[in-house]
Amino acid sequence: MIVIAGTDTGVGKTVFAAALARMLGGYYWKPVQSGRDPSTDSARVRALGVPAGRVLKERHVFSRPLSPHRAAELDGAAIDVERLASPPHPPDAARALIVELAGGLLVPLTKEVLQVELLKRWGAPVVLCARTSLGTINHTLLSIEALKSRGIPLLGVAFVGKAMPDTERTIAALSGARRLGRLDWIAGLEEDPGRSSKFLHASFRKSFSGLRRVLGDAASAGLGQGEKIGGAPRQSLSDFSGRGDQSPVWRPYTQHAAAEPPLLVESARGATLYTRDGREVFDAISSWWVTLHGHSHPRIAAAIGRQAGLLDQALFADCTHEPAERLSRELVRLAPRGLSKAFYSDDGSTAVEAGLKMAIGYWHNKGRERGLIAALEGGYHGDTFGAMSAGERGPFTKAYAPFLFDVLRLPFPEPSREARALERSEQLLKRHRDRIAALIVEPLVQGVSGMRMYSPAALKALHGMCRRWGVLFIADEVMTGFGRTGTFFACEAAGVSPDILCLSKGITGGSLALGATLASEEIFRGFWSKDRSRAFFHGHSYTANPIACRAALANLEIFKEEPVAMRIAAQARLHESELKRLLGSRARSPSGIRARRMGTIAALEIPCREPGYLSGLGRRLARFCLSRNVLLRPLGNVVYIMAPYCSTPKEIRHAYDVIEESLKLS
Ligand SMILES: *Cc1c(COP(=O)(O)O)cnc(C)c1O
Repeated sequence: MIVIAGTDTGVGKTVFAAALARMLGGYYWKPVQSGRDPSTDSARVRALGVPAGRVLKERHVFSRPLSPHRAAELDGAAIDVERLASPPHPPDAARALIVELAGGLLVPLTKEVLQVELLKRWGAPVVLCARTSLGTINHTLLSIEALKSRGIPLLGVAFVGKAMPDTERTIAALSGARRLGRLDWIAGLEEDPGRSSKFLHASFRKSFSGLRRVLGDAASAGLGQGEKIGGAPRQSLSDFSGRGDQSPVWRPYTQHAAAEPPLLVESARGATLYTRDGREVFDAISSWWVTLHGHSHPRIAAAIGRQAGLLDQALFADCTHEPAERLSRELVRLAPRGLSKAFYSDDGSTAVEAGLKMAIGYWHNKGRERGLIAALEGGYHGDTFGAMSAGERGPFTKAYAPFLFDVLRLPFPEPSREARALERSEQLLKRHRDRIAALIVEPLVQGVSGMRMYSPAALKALHGMCRRWGVLFIADEVMTGFGRTGTFFACEAAGVSPDILCLSKGITGGSLALGATLASEEIFRGFWSKDRSRAFFHGHSYTANPIACRAALANLEIFKEEPVAMRIAAQARLHESELKRLLGSRARSPSGIRARRMGTIAALEIPCREPGYLSGLGRRLARFCLSRNVLLRPLGNVVYIMAPYCSTPKEIRHAYDVIEESLKLS
């Protein structure tokens, strides 16, 4: 399949597509036709000599020559994007399929979906038709950017019109796109296609003789999903979705000897993962809690592309750059009051490591050695040694136990025994106050230990104790940050200003790895000295990588410019009503299932004989849900949904339906 796109309407796409279909002996398909007077494009293509049997039927023909979304509306019709996403299978699969788009790339198909999104779904390579007259440099470069920013493969630009070699060269040089050739505008073609078309095809063959080779190269590079294009032999990439011993890849948290073959994901959009074998899977866990506004969000993708071409990396000890300066200002502005500095690292674990080291280093610089970290029972803070030490011990940490430092464990303020737990915490903090550098907590929701939730009042109480007993307070908002629990940061709900705040996961909207540790002025001043030995000795090669910082800025812009707060609130309400539908109005259903929710995090705890992370129940349930195209990853016997904010109500309801069905089986 080869897609013929235009920089605009009326640039000669149809003539080009007809000539290409003739040269390759391929099929022609115009999925959406707006306007049928004096004739449709399919009819013109037939008039230009493509046999009627190779001109496939349109999916939509509208009467008015308008943008498809509007033309459909005026005809009282609607475009079914899902249906368009699966192209027809013509009888002779060996022949190329030439698909002509309607108008330019950013033409809307519906009020929500642009034509270019369809291209992304097809994954087929594109030939961009451009005119040679004035204005074409701008139109063509913009179109190429629109393709590039979405990762759509561009075979090259085909010009239609009078020779303008300078214009053609300029476009090729500025965009890096290949010039495929130029088709002269042929006088009389429209009036008398029969007579002129011979001339057209001869001149096309001459100008685009190199096109067959380009198409052949594309096919062998696996573009067009291994389809046979332009007569090239069928190519398919070797299968790398096997069980694991055939693949050189070692995946995280995976027992390769027992794991199902992984999904081979080729692209993703919104809350959907598209796999090589044509499945569309709802990413109900935001790809391990990172994706906020949907996958491959155009704004973030474009920001990454621009920044990558401008400044990819600069060591951050001796240099600074605008993306990091701006991001720091934004984070400090959004964070709870009192946090005034942002320190960057690579991910959540390193953000926590930096936070712990800041706390311990702060006391050291004050001349007080405080060797104890306090943490909540059941906490999880990452997989590096310091973060592992602060976290609860369990199957993940068993092998490393002798290497982990001891932690003062405070009881989890379970709502049913909150007062007792807090009282005990206060005793412990008071007793050990001279030895404790900091208390680290996941505010309001403990993710890994099963989406365990506690009240803002308890969070506030824990923070108050730390203030009373002179213990630093570290909020690990790696998971809860960026709107997950309903407020921008979970600490906000309790009016708590931590001394140190750890961020990652959603910080780039789920596009790139980046960790940030925010610190109060007091902490920063603890390292401020003429004495260089008192500096904070921590850093990573990619600290404050400009591309990642730019992605984070784009993420924050989306919060400002799209109705994200409304989406979060609506999704939270939907979870509430779906949980009720599933379990009735009680927090605990007759079958013993407990439900809990905070913001867009909803969890179901299923009673079972072997609870805990290694429980087989969760894996069985996940396997079933995946067979229904919902990706879940239960934490032992806790099934949760933590979907991207852009998920549609239909997607969320479907996830609940599938969970409900799976519970009946389990
Ligand atoms: C995921 C997580 C981490 C670790 O982040 P990584 O990016 O996976 O290293 C730390 N703390 C919390 C609360 C997390 O949920």
